[in-house]
Amino acid sequence: MPIEHETRDGALVWIRNPVTGVISYVVDVRAKSFAFTLGREAGQRERAAALDAEQIARATEVCAFCPGNESLTTREIFLVTPAEMPGWTGAAASGGSDAGAWVIRVFNNLFPRIPAELTANRNESYIVVEDPRHFVENPRGPGDLLYTGLLGEEHFFELLRADVRVMLMSRQNRAVRSIVIRKNQGRESGASQPHLHQQILGSPEPFPAVAAEARAEREIPGMFEEIINLMDRLGLMIENHGNIVSYASPIGAFPRSYDVVMRQHRDALLSDLSADELRGFGRAIFRILALMGPIPLDYEIHQGEGLPLHAHINARLYPYSNVAGTLNLPNTLLASAAALREALARG
Ligand SMILES: [Zn+2]
Ligand SMILES: [Zn+2]
Repeated sequence: MPIEHETRDGALVWIRNPVTGVISYVVDVRAKSFAFTLGREAGQRERAAALDAEQIARATEVCAFCPGNESLTTREIFLVTPAEMPGWTGAAASGGSDAGAWVIRVFNNLFPRIPAELTANRNESYIVVEDPRHFVENPRGPGDLLYTGLLGEEHFFELLRADVRVMLMSRQNRAVRSIVIRKNQGRESGASQPHLHQQILGSPEPFPAVAAEARAEREIPGMFEEIINLMDRLGLMIENHGNIVSYASPIGAFPRSYDVVMRQHRDALLSDLSADELRGFGRAIFRILALMGPIPLDYEIHQGEGLPLHAHINARLYPYSNVAGTLNLPNTLLASAAALREALARG
Protein backbone atom coordinates (compact mmCIF):
# COMPACT_ATOMS: atom_id res chain seq x y z
CA MET A 1 0.00 0.00 0.00
CA PRO A 2 1.45 3.37 -0.94
CA ILE A 3 1.78 6.26 1.50
CA GLU A 4 -1.47 8.20 0.99
CA HIS A 5 -0.86 11.69 -0.33
CA GLU A 6 -1.85 14.08 -3.11
CA THR A 7 0.22 16.36 -5.29
CA ARG A 8 -1.07 19.06 -7.64
CA ASP A 9 1.21 20.54 -10.28
CA GLY A 10 4.03 18.60 -8.63
CA ALA A 11 3.48 20.22 -5.23
CA LEU A 12 2.40 18.28 -2.16
CA VAL A 13 -1.12 19.19 -1.01
CA TRP A 14 -1.61 16.70 1.79
CA ILE A 15 -0.05 13.50 3.14
CA ARG A 16 -1.21 11.00 5.75
CA ASN A 17 1.13 9.57 8.37
CA PRO A 18 0.74 5.79 7.92
CA VAL A 19 1.46 5.17 11.62
CA THR A 20 -0.79 7.70 13.35
CA GLY A 21 -3.26 8.54 10.57
CA VAL A 22 -2.58 12.27 11.12
CA ILE A 23 -3.00 14.27 7.90
CA SER A 24 -0.59 17.11 7.18
CA TYR A 25 -1.98 19.86 4.94
CA VAL A 26 0.47 22.11 3.15
CA VAL A 27 -0.51 25.74 3.73
CA ASP A 28 0.84 29.19 2.96
CA VAL A 29 2.09 30.61 6.27
CA ARG A 30 4.20 33.44 4.93
CA ALA A 31 1.68 36.08 5.95
CA LYS A 32 0.78 34.41 9.24
CA SER A 33 1.74 36.26 12.40
CA PHE A 34 3.44 34.31 15.13
CA ALA A 35 3.56 37.35 17.39
CA PHE A 36 1.74 35.65 20.21
CA THR A 37 4.11 32.71 20.52
CA LEU A 38 7.39 34.32 19.53
CA GLY A 39 6.92 37.98 20.46
CA ARG A 40 7.76 37.76 24.15
CA GLU A 41 11.07 36.02 23.58
CA ALA A 42 12.08 38.43 20.82
CA GLY A 43 11.25 41.45 23.02
CA GLN A 44 13.30 40.10 25.88
CA ARG A 45 16.25 39.54 23.60
CA GLU A 46 16.28 43.13 22.41
CA ARG A 47 16.29 44.54 25.92
CA ALA A 48 18.78 42.12 27.38
CA ALA A 49 22.25 43.40 28.08
CA ALA A 50 25.15 40.99 28.52
CA LEU A 51 24.91 38.96 31.72
CA ASP A 52 27.52 40.03 34.21
CA ALA A 53 29.68 37.63 36.19
CA GLU A 54 27.37 37.85 39.19
CA GLN A 55 24.28 36.95 37.16
CA ILE A 56 26.12 34.03 35.57
CA ALA A 57 27.26 32.83 38.99
CA ARG A 58 23.72 33.06 40.37
CA ALA A 59 22.29 30.98 37.51
CA THR A 60 24.95 28.28 37.59
CA GLU A 61 24.97 28.08 41.40
CA VAL A 62 21.46 26.65 41.46
CA CYS A 63 21.86 24.42 38.38
CA ALA A 64 22.06 20.77 39.42
CA PHE A 65 23.84 19.89 36.17
CA CYS A 66 26.66 22.44 36.51
CA PRO A 67 30.15 21.44 37.69
CA GLY A 68 30.49 21.89 41.45
CA ASN A 69 26.87 20.87 42.07
CA GLU A 70 27.35 17.14 41.49
CA SER A 71 26.01 16.42 44.97
CA LEU A 72 22.59 17.73 43.90
CA THR A 73 22.09 14.78 41.54
CA THR A 74 22.01 11.05 42.19
CA ARG A 75 25.38 9.30 42.40
CA GLU A 76 27.17 9.44 39.08
CA ILE A 77 27.46 6.29 37.01
CA PHE A 78 30.37 7.38 34.86
CA LEU A 79 32.16 10.42 33.48
CA VAL A 80 33.90 11.15 30.21
CA THR A 81 36.92 13.28 31.08
CA PRO A 82 38.60 16.08 29.10
CA ALA A 83 41.60 13.75 28.65
CA GLU A 84 39.32 11.28 26.83
CA MET A 85 38.10 14.07 24.53
CA PRO A 86 41.18 15.92 23.35
CA GLY A 87 39.21 17.85 20.71
CA TRP A 88 36.71 19.22 23.23
CA THR A 89 35.91 22.83 22.32
CA GLY A 90 35.33 23.79 25.97
CA ALA A 91 38.99 23.24 26.78
CA ALA A 92 39.91 26.11 24.47
CA ALA A 93 37.09 28.29 25.86
CA SER A 94 38.45 27.97 29.39
CA GLY A 95 41.98 28.63 28.23
CA GLY A 96 42.87 25.02 28.96
CA SER A 97 43.88 26.01 32.47
CA ASP A 98 40.91 24.67 34.39
CA ALA A 99 39.11 22.24 32.13
CA GLY A 100 37.42 20.58 35.11
CA ALA A 101 36.81 16.94 35.94
CA TRP A 102 34.37 15.96 33.24
CA VAL A 103 32.93 16.76 29.83
CA ILE A 104 30.06 14.26 29.86
CA ARG A 105 28.45 13.08 33.09
CA VAL A 106 25.91 10.26 33.50
CA PHE A 107 23.61 9.55 36.44
CA ASN A 108 20.12 8.31 37.20
CA ASN A 109 17.24 10.73 36.89
CA LEU A 110 16.04 11.69 40.35
CA PHE A 111 12.51 11.29 38.99
CA PRO A 112 12.29 8.07 36.97
CA ARG A 113 9.94 8.39 34.00
CA ILE A 114 8.86 4.77 34.41
CA PRO A 115 8.40 3.61 38.03
CA ALA A 116 11.36 1.49 39.16
CA GLU A 117 8.97 -1.22 40.43
CA LEU A 118 8.26 -2.05 36.80
CA THR A 119 11.93 -2.66 35.99
CA ALA A 120 12.94 -5.04 38.80
CA ASN A 121 13.23 -2.14 41.30
CA ARG A 122 16.01 -0.52 39.32
CA ASN A 123 15.69 3.08 38.19
CA GLU A 124 16.17 2.84 34.42
CA SER A 125 15.87 6.58 33.69
CA TYR A 126 19.23 8.19 32.99
CA ILE A 127 20.51 11.71 32.44
CA VAL A 128 23.50 12.37 30.21
CA VAL A 129 24.82 15.90 30.75
CA GLU A 130 26.37 16.79 27.41
CA ASP A 131 28.86 19.44 28.48
CA PRO A 132 29.84 21.23 31.71
CA ARG A 133 29.17 24.66 30.18
CA HIS A 134 25.80 26.15 31.09
CA PHE A 135 25.85 29.25 28.87
CA VAL A 136 27.30 30.12 25.49
CA GLU A 137 30.31 32.40 25.57
CA ASN A 138 29.36 35.98 26.59
CA PRO A 139 25.64 35.28 27.15
CA ARG A 140 23.35 38.24 26.38
CA GLY A 141 20.53 36.92 28.59
CA PRO A 142 19.46 33.96 30.75
CA GLY A 143 18.20 32.22 27.60
CA ASP A 144 21.62 32.16 25.91
CA LEU A 145 22.26 28.58 26.89
CA LEU A 146 24.83 26.28 25.34
CA TYR A 147 23.10 23.98 22.83
CA THR A 148 24.02 20.72 21.15
CA GLY A 149 24.56 22.25 17.70
CA LEU A 150 27.61 24.10 19.07
CA LEU A 151 29.35 21.00 20.40
CA GLY A 152 30.77 19.67 17.12
CA GLU A 153 30.47 16.37 15.30
CA GLU A 154 33.18 14.62 17.30
CA HIS A 155 31.62 15.64 20.61
CA PHE A 156 28.24 14.34 19.43
CA PHE A 157 29.87 11.03 18.49
CA GLU A 158 31.31 10.82 22.03
CA LEU A 159 27.83 11.54 23.37
CA LEU A 160 26.40 8.62 21.38
CA ARG A 161 29.23 6.42 22.67
CA ALA A 162 28.24 7.37 26.20
CA ASP A 163 24.62 6.49 25.30
CA VAL A 164 25.78 3.07 24.13
CA ARG A 165 27.55 2.54 27.47
CA VAL A 166 24.35 3.38 29.32
CA MET A 167 22.36 1.06 27.05
CA LEU A 168 24.68 -1.88 27.60
CA MET A 169 24.39 -1.33 31.34
CA SER A 170 20.62 -0.97 31.29
CA ARG A 171 20.18 -4.07 29.17
CA GLN A 172 21.83 -6.14 31.88
CA ASN A 173 18.56 -5.65 33.68
CA ARG A 174 16.45 -8.43 32.21
CA ALA A 175 13.28 -6.47 32.96
CA VAL A 176 14.30 -3.87 30.36
CA ARG A 177 12.89 -4.64 26.93
CA SER A 178 13.21 -1.37 25.11
CA ILE A 179 15.41 1.72 25.32
CA VAL A 180 14.83 5.20 23.92
CA ILE A 181 17.18 8.16 23.75
CA ARG A 182 15.46 11.51 24.01
CA LYS A 183 16.54 15.13 23.97
CA ASN A 184 14.61 18.30 24.73
CA GLN A 185 16.24 21.62 23.87
CA GLY A 186 14.63 24.78 25.15
CA ARG A 187 11.75 25.45 27.49
CA GLU A 188 9.25 25.41 24.59
CA SER A 189 10.20 21.81 23.87
CA GLY A 190 9.36 20.70 27.40
CA ALA A 191 12.89 20.66 28.81
CA SER A 192 12.70 20.98 32.60
CA GLN A 193 16.40 21.82 33.05
CA PRO A 194 18.14 24.58 31.12
CA HIS A 195 21.55 22.82 31.13
CA LEU A 196 22.00 20.75 27.98
CA HIS A 197 21.33 17.08 28.58
CA GLN A 198 19.84 13.92 27.10
CA GLN A 199 17.55 11.37 28.69
CA ILE A 200 17.80 7.61 28.25
CA LEU A 201 14.84 5.50 29.32
CA GLY A 202 14.62 1.75 29.73
CA SER A 203 11.11 0.32 29.56
CA PRO A 204 9.66 -3.05 30.57
CA GLU A 205 7.68 -3.09 27.31
CA PRO A 206 8.08 -1.66 23.83
CA PHE A 207 7.55 2.10 23.80
CA PRO A 208 4.09 2.80 22.36
CA ALA A 209 5.37 5.16 19.65
CA VAL A 210 7.91 2.59 18.45
CA ALA A 211 5.44 -0.30 18.75
CA ALA A 212 2.97 1.64 16.58
CA GLU A 213 5.65 2.13 13.92
CA ALA A 214 6.50 -1.56 14.04
CA ARG A 215 2.83 -2.46 13.64
CA ALA A 216 2.54 -0.16 10.61
CA GLU A 217 5.74 -1.61 9.14
CA ARG A 218 4.25 -5.11 9.45
CA GLU A 219 1.02 -3.99 7.78
CA ILE A 220 2.87 -2.08 5.06
CA PRO A 221 6.03 -4.14 4.46
CA GLY A 222 8.87 -1.82 3.46
CA MET A 223 7.03 1.24 4.83
CA PHE A 224 10.24 3.05 5.75
CA GLU A 225 11.76 2.39 2.32
CA GLU A 226 8.60 3.70 0.70
CA ILE A 227 8.68 6.85 2.83
CA ILE A 228 12.33 7.41 1.93
CA ASN A 229 11.62 7.00 -1.80
CA LEU A 230 8.63 9.34 -1.60
CA MET A 231 10.66 11.99 0.27
CA ASP A 232 13.26 11.76 -2.50
CA ARG A 233 10.57 12.28 -5.19
CA LEU A 234 9.14 15.25 -3.27
CA GLY A 235 12.55 16.91 -3.08
CA LEU A 236 12.76 16.57 0.70
CA MET A 237 15.95 14.50 0.93
CA ILE A 238 18.66 16.29 2.88
CA GLU A 239 21.53 13.80 2.76
CA ASN A 240 21.68 10.41 1.10
CA HIS A 241 24.69 8.24 1.84
CA GLY A 242 23.09 4.96 0.80
CA ASN A 243 22.69 3.32 4.18
CA ILE A 244 22.24 6.61 6.05
CA VAL A 245 19.60 9.04 4.81
CA SER A 246 18.08 12.19 6.28
CA TYR A 247 15.03 14.04 5.01
CA ALA A 248 12.58 16.78 5.99
CA SER A 249 9.50 14.84 7.01
CA PRO A 250 6.03 16.16 6.20
CA ILE A 251 4.59 13.43 8.43
CA GLY A 252 6.47 14.21 11.64
CA ALA A 253 4.90 14.78 15.04
CA PHE A 254 5.37 18.53 14.58
CA PRO A 255 5.05 20.71 11.49
CA ARG A 256 8.81 20.90 11.00
CA SER A 257 10.42 17.52 11.44
CA TYR A 258 13.42 15.61 10.16
CA ASP A 259 14.20 11.90 10.15
CA VAL A 260 17.56 10.14 9.98
CA VAL A 261 17.30 6.47 8.96
CA MET A 262 19.90 3.68 8.89
CA ARG A 263 18.01 1.82 6.16
CA GLN A 264 20.12 -1.35 6.23
CA HIS A 265 20.07 -1.67 10.02
CA ARG A 266 16.76 -3.35 10.70
CA ASP A 267 16.20 -4.45 14.30
CA ALA A 268 19.59 -2.95 15.11
CA LEU A 269 20.25 -1.22 18.40
CA LEU A 270 22.59 1.73 18.68
CA SER A 271 24.90 -0.61 20.57
CA ASP A 272 25.07 -2.96 17.54
CA LEU A 273 26.71 -0.37 15.30
CA SER A 274 30.41 -0.35 14.49
CA ALA A 275 32.28 2.82 15.45
CA ASP A 276 32.13 3.98 11.81
CA GLU A 277 28.40 3.35 11.55
CA LEU A 278 27.76 5.12 14.86
CA ARG A 279 29.85 8.04 13.65
CA GLY A 280 27.88 8.23 10.39
CA PHE A 281 24.51 8.09 12.15
CA GLY A 282 25.66 10.71 14.65
CA ARG A 283 27.01 12.97 11.90
CA ALA A 284 23.68 12.95 10.03
CA ILE A 285 21.79 13.86 13.23
CA PHE A 286 24.33 16.42 14.35
CA ARG A 287 24.41 18.23 11.00
CA ILE A 288 20.68 18.89 11.26
CA LEU A 289 21.01 19.99 14.90
CA ALA A 290 23.85 22.35 13.95
CA LEU A 291 21.75 23.95 11.21
CA MET A 292 18.83 24.40 13.61
CA GLY A 293 21.10 26.01 16.20
CA PRO A 294 19.56 27.20 19.49
CA ILE A 295 15.89 26.94 18.49
CA PRO A 296 13.68 24.78 20.71
CA LEU A 297 13.69 21.20 19.45
CA ASP A 298 13.50 17.60 20.48
CA TYR A 299 14.92 14.41 19.08
CA GLU A 300 14.31 10.77 19.78
CA ILE A 301 16.27 7.68 18.70
CA HIS A 302 14.06 4.67 17.98
CA GLN A 303 15.53 1.19 17.80
CA GLY A 304 14.57 -2.46 17.59
CA GLU A 305 11.04 -3.85 17.16
CA GLY A 306 11.43 -4.80 13.49
CA LEU A 307 12.32 -1.28 12.34
CA PRO A 308 15.38 0.28 10.77
CA LEU A 309 17.36 2.22 13.39
CA HIS A 310 16.23 5.84 13.10
CA ALA A 311 15.94 9.23 14.75
CA HIS A 312 13.17 11.85 14.65
CA ILE A 313 14.12 15.50 15.09
CA ASN A 314 11.33 18.02 15.69
CA ALA A 315 11.82 21.76 15.53
CA ARG A 316 9.48 23.55 17.95
CA LEU A 317 9.85 26.95 16.37
CA TYR A 318 6.20 26.83 15.33
CA PRO A 319 3.62 26.08 17.97
CA TYR A 320 2.29 22.58 18.14
CA SER A 321 -0.83 22.76 16.12
CA ASN A 322 -2.28 19.27 15.85
CA VAL A 323 -6.02 19.89 15.58
CA ALA A 324 -8.22 16.81 15.60
CA GLY A 325 -5.56 14.75 13.83
CA THR A 326 -4.49 17.39 11.32
CA LEU A 327 -1.26 19.33 11.05
CA ASN A 328 -0.49 22.42 8.98
CA LEU A 329 2.80 22.33 7.12
CA PRO A 330 4.44 25.54 5.96
CA ASN A 331 4.65 25.50 2.16
CA THR A 332 8.20 26.73 2.52
CA LEU A 333 9.13 23.19 3.58
CA LEU A 334 10.35 22.24 0.10
CA ALA A 335 12.48 25.35 -0.22
CA SER A 336 13.93 24.95 3.26
CA ALA A 337 14.86 21.31 2.58
CA ALA A 338 16.71 22.46 -0.53
CA ALA A 339 18.43 25.21 1.47
CA LEU A 340 19.55 22.74 4.14
CA ARG A 341 20.83 20.38 1.46
CA GLU A 342 22.87 23.17 -0.10
CA ALA A 343 24.17 24.43 3.23
CA LEU A 344 25.41 20.93 4.10
CA ALA A 345 26.92 20.43 0.64
CA ARG A 346 28.88 23.68 1.09
CA GLY A 347 30.12 22.27 4.39
ZN1 LIG B 1 24.12 24.35 34.46
ZN1 LIG C 1 10.29 6.24 15.08
